[in-house]
Amino acid sequence: MLRLAIQSKGRLNEKSIQLLSDAGIAVDEAARKFLTPASNFPVEVLMLRDDDIPQAVATGAADLGIVGYNEVLEKDMDVKVIMKLGFGGCRLSLAVPQNSGYDNPSWFDGKTVATSYPNILRKHFQALGIHADIRTIAGSVEIAPTVGMGDAIFDIVSSGATLVTNGLKEVERVVESEAVLISSGRLSKENQKILEQIEFRFSSIKGSRGKRYLLMNIPNGKIEEAISIVPAMRSPTVLPLAQEGWSSLHSVVDADVLWDRIEKLKKIGAEGILVLSVEKLVL
Ligand code: ATP
Ligand code: MG
Repeated sequence: MLRLAIQSKGRLNEKSIQLLSDAGIAVDEAARKFLTPASNFPVEVLMLRDDDIPQAVATGAADLGIVGYNEVLEKDMDVKVIMKLGFGGCRLSLAVPQNSGYDNPSWFDGKTVATSYPNILRKHFQALGIHADIRTIAGSVEIAPTVGMGDAIFDIVSSGATLVTNGLKEVERVVESEAVLISSGRLSKENQKILEQIEFRFSSIKGSRGKRYLLMNIPNGKIEEAISIVPAMRSPTVLPLAQEGWSSLHSVVDADVLWDRIEKLKKIGAEGILVLSVEKLVL
């Protein structure tokens, strides 16, 4: 049995449970216990505050964890990052009041910076030779300058809207983060095998994100041209239609180029274009 720690509630909880469920690892959320065995896979899920996940994994209380890379860096525990998971994207940035006259990082010399990530910030300032007073606060970091708890902040940013609301501007992106799978690096042989299965399943799910399955009818004379528009992984599938002179062509495309490809396909005479979502992609 392998023990996997995930966030008990908060921004990563739902997506972690969804990822497990997509990977065929069913966790009965209604049970709401801190330790829940999956019903159909040799994994038990440990629900923790995200701050405690790196330590739980480093000490062997859990074999694996799903947590923000920002927490992994901050806690600086002995854990291995196995893979990025493609959700929970954000960054750790320095932000200053809009009217602060900031022009370059030496502005921070002698200033007080409020943050919940003192270790990452200390290392960053050390590398730049900046001497600033780092003030650790647990939450609502973005209000610190307004209430006189710091000249600037170092905090998580995703859209930047919270900064604007608080009269701040982002001046330096220090760390890019997303949810990652971490391991203690000391798994039993049996658990190592389970980890390999989990890695394979997670990769298949990640691989399918942003992909669309495309089906269309195409005149036989246009098949080559259509293939050059939607080349697919190996090559698209072409099946004859009952109607003479026409075929059905199937392919997989990236969602961000979907409309461009549809327009090109229509121009060369494709009809009945059907777009389906892709659930898993096993390469
Ligand atoms: P916990 O109660 O588990 O300690 P928390 O309040 O520390 O939770 P959340 O706000 O739930 O943490 O965020 C969890 C993680 O989600 C962050 O550490 C970060 O990796 C990621 N994240 C992504 N976008 C954001 C965002 N806009 N604000 C905060 N965290 C974000
Ligand atoms: Mg936390």
